[in-house]
Parts: sequence; C-alpha cells; structure tokens
Amino acid sequence: MATIAFIGVGNMGGGMALNLVKAGHQVRAFDLSAVALERVVAGGASAASSAVAAATGADAIITMLPAGTHVRAAYEGELFAAAASHAILIDCSTIDVATAKALGEAAATRGLAMVDAPVSGGTAAADAGTLTFMVGGPAAAFAVAQPILAQMGKAVIHAGGAGTGQAAKICNNMILGATMIATAEAFVLAEKLGLDAQTFFDIAAKASGQSWSMTSYCPVPGPVPTAPSNRDYAGGFAAALMLKDLKLACEAAQGVGATVPMGAEAQSLYQLFVNNGGAVTDFSGIIKLLRGATA
Ligand code: NAD
Repeated sequence: MATIAFIGVGNMGGGMALNLVKAGHQVRAFDLSAVALERVVAGGASAASSAVAAATGADAIITMLPAGTHVRAAYEGELFAAAASHAILIDCSTIDVATAKALGEAAATRGLAMVDAPVSGGTAAADAGTLTFMVGGPAAAFAVAQPILAQMGKAVIHAGGAGTGQAAKICNNMILGATMIATAEAFVLAEKLGLDAQTFFDIAAKASGQSWSMTSYCPVPGPVPTAPSNRDYAGGFAAALMLKDLKLACEAAQGVGATVPMGAEAQSLYQLFVNNGGAVTDFSGIIKLLRGATA
C-alpha cells in the first residue's frame, strides 16, 4: 500500500480520498478549508499542515483543485520541489489544456512522472468510486497512475500525451452541453406542438434524436426517474461547472484555430442561464431558460 498526498478534498476530492483510504492507502490530506479536511479525517485520512508536508516522501501526489491557476500555483510553487523522485503526480482537476500540457512538460524536465487525469461523473460517482478518468501523459506514467485511479473509478482510459486527458474531458462536455440544449429545445417545441412528453421520449429515444442527454438525463420530469429534472433540477452537475467546461473548450478551440459554433452558442446560453440565477441548478435546468423562465 502507498502513501498518497491528496491536495484539495472538496466536493469531489473528499470522496475520492476516502476511497483511497478504504483501499488501504495511507492518505495525507491538505485543503485550505478546515471543513473539507474534517470530513476526510473522520474517514481515516491524516490532516497535513501544508501541501509540502503532505507531499514530502509520498509515493503519489493527487490534486483536485478548482481551476488551472490553482493547479499551476500548487505544482510550480511547491509540489514539483517537494515531490520524491519516484512519486507519481496526478492532477484530477478540470483545467485548461495549455496549463496541463505545460505542467506535464515541466514535470518531465525535472525527471518527474505526471499525468493529467480529469474525471467524468459527479460527486455521487466520486463517493461511490465509479468515476471515469481520462488520462494524458507518457505511457510509463500512466502505468503507475492506473492502479491508483482504478481504486477511485470504474474506467481509466489513456488518451495520449500530456494535456490529452483535459482535451478529452472538454470535448466530451462540449458534446454534452450542446446535446442537452438541443434535447431541451426539442421537448419544449414538441410540447407546444401538442405532443405528450413521455410519448415524444418513447419515439425519440428509439429514433435518431437519441442521446445520453435524453435517455439518461432527460430534461423534462417523468421519462427518466433518476434525472435531476424530477427534483426541480437540484443536485447533479451544476450549470456553473458546465459553463466552466464550455469556456475551456472554446478557449482551447481558439488556441488551435478550430471552429466550434455549437460549443460557442452553448457557452452563451449557459452564461445567460448562470447570469439569471442558474449557477447551482443542474445543467439540464437550461430548459427553464428555453421556456422563458428564469432559474
Ligand atoms: P470544490 O470547490 O468543492 O473543491 C476544491 C477544493 O480545493 C476546496 O475544498 C478548496 O478549499 C480547495 N483548494 C483550493 N485551493 C487550494 C490550495 N491552494 N490548496 C489546497 N486546497 C485548495 O470543487 P469540486 O466540485 O470538488 O471540483 C474540483 C475539480 O473537479 C474542479 O476542477 C471541477 O471542475 C472538477 N469536477 C467537478 C465535478 C463536480 O460535479 N463537482 C465533476 C467533474 C469534475
């Protein structure tokens, strides 16, 4: 069993760190929030006094932080210097591709193994250990990270070199954001055309309009009982996080000269929804905006 430093034990990182404790690892947690730390300490992790204290001598260093600026500051400021030469560095945060690539390259020049390993699945999957990890980095680093990530997830997929884990994450979520809006739009139109929502679902779910946004996460209540639409769009994947991912996708597209008109439109609609008070609403709640209501 390994000694693992876990930096950032918030909504996602908390559950992930606890799954590593359950797998038998010695987990040293660090977070700026005392409340976040308390949860993992109650579950068997030890609280480190700083990121450096957590990382020094650890076999693995995992970060689960809000954004690229936090991740860059953590590695460049402290973690690269504190990491043992044999340690595997794993950033699970969702951040911009450019920063992930730059950090992977900076680690390599220091002789350290690093992967970007963002996740798909929300806090329920983090708690249950059923996340999907999309991993970018050298094959040798992936081989070391894979068994650790497998203890927090149901799928661990190597996407390619540094930054490609983040690329996979934002491209996936760009599809998700756009298909959710398209699905929500279609249900509103169907309703106005006199179609019953369940009937339209039964047809479209078996026709070419089918997508995950429809059949696993239907934005109207009823057809998919587990979907957040059945609990007034509470919980699930917050619209503010969808907006963050769409912004990352559009920025990345701009950086490489890719044309993403649907992604850009999805970003503006989620921005409008967030501005109208929808930030903490599940992202399928965008249907309220399309109905002309605020969040
Ligand atoms: P969160 O805000 O709950 O957790 C982040 C934690 O990092 C907080 O506890 C904060 O105190 C801590 N932190 C910030 N700066 C720090 C520092 N310098 N040192 C130590 N701790 C620091 O956020 P979250 O929902 O857990 O999301 C984490 C990442 O996972 C984000 O990049 C997010 O986009 C991504 N993500 C979230 C979800 C989700 O459903 N919540 C799903 C997939 C991916």
